[in-house]
Amino acid sequence: MYIEVLLELKNKQTDQTYTYKVPNNLESQIQVGKRVKVPFNHRELEGFILSIKDVCKKEFEILEIKEVVDEEIVLSEELFSIGKFIKDTYLCSLASAYAVMLPKALKASEKTQVNKKFQSNLILNMAYEEALRMCSSDRQKEIVDLLNENGCLTKKEGNLISISSVNTLLKKNIIKEEQEEVYRINNKVLEKDEKKVLNEEQKNAYHAIVASLNQYEKFLLYGVTGSGKTEVYMQVIERVLERKQTAIVLVPEISLTPQFVTNFKKRFQDKVAVLHSGLSDGERYDEWRKIERDEVDIVIGARSAIFAPLKNLGIIIVDEEHSESYKQENNPRYNAIEVAEYRGEYNRIPVVLGSATPTLERMAKSTKNLYKRLELKHRVNNQTLPICTCVDMALELKKRNPILSERLKVEIESSISRHEQVILLLNRRGYATTITCSNCGFTYKCPNCDITLTYHKTKNNLRCHYCGYTTFKKDTCPKCKTDLNFYGYGTEKLEQIIRSEFPDLKVLRMDADTTRKKNSYEEIVERFKNEDYDILLGTQMISKGLDFPRVSLVGIINADATLNIPDFRSGERTFSLLYQASGRAGRCNTVGNVIIQTFNKDNPILQCVAEQSYEKYYNYEMNIRKKLKYPPYYYLVSLKVVSKEYEECSKEAVKVAEFLKKKIAETSIVLGPTTANVFKVNNVYRFNIIIKYRFDDKLMPTLKELDKLFVMNKKVNLEIDVNPTKI
Ligand code: ADP
Ligand code: ZN
Repeated sequence: MYIEVLLELKNKQTDQTYTYKVPNNLESQIQVGKRVKVPFNHRELEGFILSIKDVCKKEFEILEIKEVVDEEIVLSEELFSIGKFIKDTYLCSLASAYAVMLPKALKASEKTQVNKKFQSNLILNMAYEEALRMCSSDRQKEIVDLLNENGCLTKKEGNLISISSVNTLLKKNIIKEEQEEVYRINNKVLEKDEKKVLNEEQKNAYHAIVASLNQYEKFLLYGVTGSGKTEVYMQVIERVLERKQTAIVLVPEISLTPQFVTNFKKRFQDKVAVLHSGLSDGERYDEWRKIERDEVDIVIGARSAIFAPLKNLGIIIVDEEHSESYKQENNPRYNAIEVAEYRGEYNRIPVVLGSATPTLERMAKSTKNLYKRLELKHRVNNQTLPICTCVDMALELKKRNPILSERLKVEIESSISRHEQVILLLNRRGYATTITCSNCGFTYKCPNCDITLTYHKTKNNLRCHYCGYTTFKKDTCPKCKTDLNFYGYGTEKLEQIIRSEFPDLKVLRMDADTTRKKNSYEEIVERFKNEDYDILLGTQMISKGLDFPRVSLVGIINADATLNIPDFRSGERTFSLLYQASGRAGRCNTVGNVIIQTFNKDNPILQCVAEQSYEKYYNYEMNIRKKLKYPPYYYLVSLKVVSKEYEECSKEAVKVAEFLKKKIAETSIVLGPTTANVFKVNNVYRFNIIIKYRFDDKLMPTLKELDKLFVMNKKVNLEIDVNPTKI
C-alpha cells in the first residue's frame, strides 16, 4: 500500500505532496484524513494522508511511514473539500488552509503537543461487604461507603476526606485507581428558558426558513435592532434538532458575550459548544472532540467556528452579517460567510445571514433574489426606534465645549434623574492621539510605522496602535524643552472628563485597554447590567449585540472619527457603527434618545443615521458605488507588494501592475501602485494595487501565476486579497 502525504514545509508556501510506502502492520490503520509521521530529509515530519493507492511506479526510492498519529479521522471528506475551496478561492496553499481550519492540537507538524486530559477516579476493587470488613478505621469505612453509594469518587474528593486512608485502601487493594478522560470545560447547565410566542413578522421569517430546511437556500434576515432575530434563530434551530440535525451559529468575536451565549445555553442546555479565541489550546481541542463525537448539536463561535466538524449539519446562521470580523486579515484571507455558503451548498441546507445593517453587497443581491430577504421591520412589542439629534460641534467649540456638548450634558442629567443608563461611544482609545511641541513642531511618531503615537495617561506612555511600540513621555519637548500640546482625544480622556463633570455618577470604560484580561469584557457587561452603574463609555465594542433594557440615551462623541478614514467602505462602516450603537437606546419601555456630535452636520450618512433609515442610506451609498465602480457593481482584488527595502518594493509594485494590465481582461481595471494608507508598518513598506472587475476568466490564472513568481523572491512579498473588506 502507498499513500500520498501532504507536508507543510515552513520555508515554502506551495504545497508539497510525497508518496510513502505503508508497512504491512500499519495498513489497517490507514485512512484518508489521518495524520502520519514520515521521514523527510533526515527529520521526521507530520502530514495528512491525501489518498491511498495500491501500486507505485518508482518503487525503489520510496520510504516507509513511521507511524499513524490519529485513531480517528481528523479531516473528514467535507473538511477536505472546504480546504480545497479555500485554496482555490483565496489563493493559498492547501497546507495553510488546513492549518487555519484545525485546532492547534490537530494540525500537522505541530511541535507543541496538546494531550487529552485525564482524571484519577477511585473505585471499589471487591464486593462492598468484604471491603468494609477489611477496613481498619472509620475514615476508610467512610470512603468505602461513599464509593458504594456513588460508584466512584475522584481521587481529589477521596483525598479531601483523608489522604492516608486513600493510600492505605489502595495499598491493600481494597480500592483501585482508574484514569478517565475528562473535558477541560464542563458546561454548567442553566435553568431552562421556554421559547417565546413569535410575533407576526417573526413567524413569517420562521416559516420561510423552516420550509427550506432540506435545500440550499440563502436568506438575508434584515431586522431592525431589537426586532428579535435571536428568537427566530433559536426556534428554527429547535426544528433542526428535532430532525436530528445540527447547527452552526457564527457571531462576531465581540458579541460572544454571556448575553447571546447564555440565551442559547438556557434554551438548549448542554447541547451547545462555544468556540472563541479566549480558549486555551487544550480547551479548544476538547471542544473540538466533543463536536466530533456527536456530543453537542449546536456550535456557537467566531469566524473559525465555521470549520466545526459537525456531522449531519442542518443549518448555518451568521448573526451580524455586516461584521468585518468574518474576514481573516492575514493568510489565508478567507471570509467565513463565503465558507458558510460553500458548506450550505455542500450539505444542501439553508444559510441565514442576519443584520440590522446588511452589507451593500448582500442587500443588493437580495433585490435580485439571490438571497431571500426576510424582514423584521418592527421592534418586539412595537417600541419605536430611537430619536436622533445631530449636534454641530463647530458651534460648541466656540462655546469652549470641545468634547461634551451642552445638549449631551443636559440629556445625561435628565436620563440619570429618571434612573436610566447612558452609553457613550468614542471609537478611539487612549488619552491623546497626537503630542506636538508648539515651538519646534516636534511630534511623537512611531519609529517603525508611518503613524503618530497615541498617549495613554494611566501608564504615562505613548503607544503605536499598529506595531505595539511603546515609549515614555517626557515632561517637555525632547528637542527644545518647550511645553508639549495634546491633540485629539480617546476614551481615556473622555472618562476623565465625564468623571470631573459628573463626580457623583458611576462610570465604566470598555475598550481594548480595559478588556485585556480574560473575561474582563464579560465582567464589564455584567456589572453594567446588574450593578448600579450610570454610564458605560467605550469604543465600538459597546455598540454590538448588547441588550441593556435600562439604557435610554446613547451619545456619539465624535461621529467623524470613522467617517474620515480613506477607504471606500468608511461610509458603510460609519453608518453601521452609529446605527447599531443607536440601537442600544430604548430597548425596553422608554423611547430611546441619541445625540450625535459632529463637525459634518450635513453629511448625508449622518443624516441617514439621524433618520434611522437604512433604506435611504442604501440608496445614497449605492449611487456612489456605481459612479466609482466599487462593489457591489464591481468585484475587487487587492494586492499588496511589501518589503523592508523601499526601492525594491516600489520597483516590483510597478512591475506587478504592468503584468496585470497586460494579462487580464480589457474590461477589468488596474489601479496603482499607490502607497498604502499607512505606508510603513513595523518597518515594512507597503504598496497597493487594486483590481476592479465584473467578469474576468483570465484573472484567477494570472493571479496564480504572479503568486508563483513571488514565492521565489526572497526580498519582496506579494499579498493577494480576494474580496477584501479593507483596501
Ligand atoms: P435583535 O437581535 O433583533 O436586535 P434580540 O434578539 O436581542 O433582537 O431581541 C430583543 C429582546 O426581545 C430580547 O430581550 C428578546 O428576549 C425579546 N424577544 C424576542 N422575541 C420576542 C417575542 N416574540 N416576545 C417577547 N419578547 C421577545
Ligand atoms: Zn509602530
